[in-house]
Amino acid sequence: MDVEAIYKNADAILTGHFLLSSGAHSGYYLQSAKALEDPKTAEKLATMLAEQIRAADIEARVVCAPALGGILAGYELARALGVRSIFTERVEGKMTLRRGFGVKQGEKVIVCEDVITTGGSALECAKTAEALGGEIVAFAALANRGFCRRVGGAIGGEVCKLPRNKPFFALTDFDFPVYPPDQCPLCAKYGKPVKPGSRPSA
Ligand code: ZN
Repeated sequence: MDVEAIYKNADAILTGHFLLSSGAHSGYYLQSAKALEDPKTAEKLATMLAEQIRAADIEARVVCAPALGGILAGYELARALGVRSIFTERVEGKMTLRRGFGVKQGEKVIVCEDVITTGGSALECAKTAEALGGEIVAFAALANRGFCRRVGGAIGGEVCKLPRNKPFFALTDFDFPVYPPDQCPLCAKYGKPVKPGSRPSA
């Protein structure tokens, strides 16, 4: 299945001038929520991701996702793997497990995002689960923005925040150009970048 085509057909690839969560600017933004709007598509994508994880003999008891972006992807991945789904959320800036969610001592955890950019939120989510005694066995995302190197992938490197000793699974790389804010050619053209997540829908 062509993941890029699925994103395109779902209008999940936005073009313009965007502020990424990493602080970098880009002319493209992946709005995974649009790709996941159809639950059947979400199920297909998560099933493919689960197949990769199973093929690598990775087993877990729970999928943990950082809210808000990771929740749908994490839930569908948990369904495909037949395990629990939980999510962390920020309370006064700090990633926390709430709502009665827990991780048991020694429990194997996969951290799942919709899109991994540099992996900052995924790493915070992992640390939250680890602090409760969980063992992180893998990171997973539907799409990789190209900063981290996924299993079987050819790109990614220095700026990736995910630990190098854990496998990172993703369905595809979206290698869009990104710019540090002080070197962004789009700023001169468009002015201030927008944060797509907080943008009101048209
Ligand atoms: Zn810019």
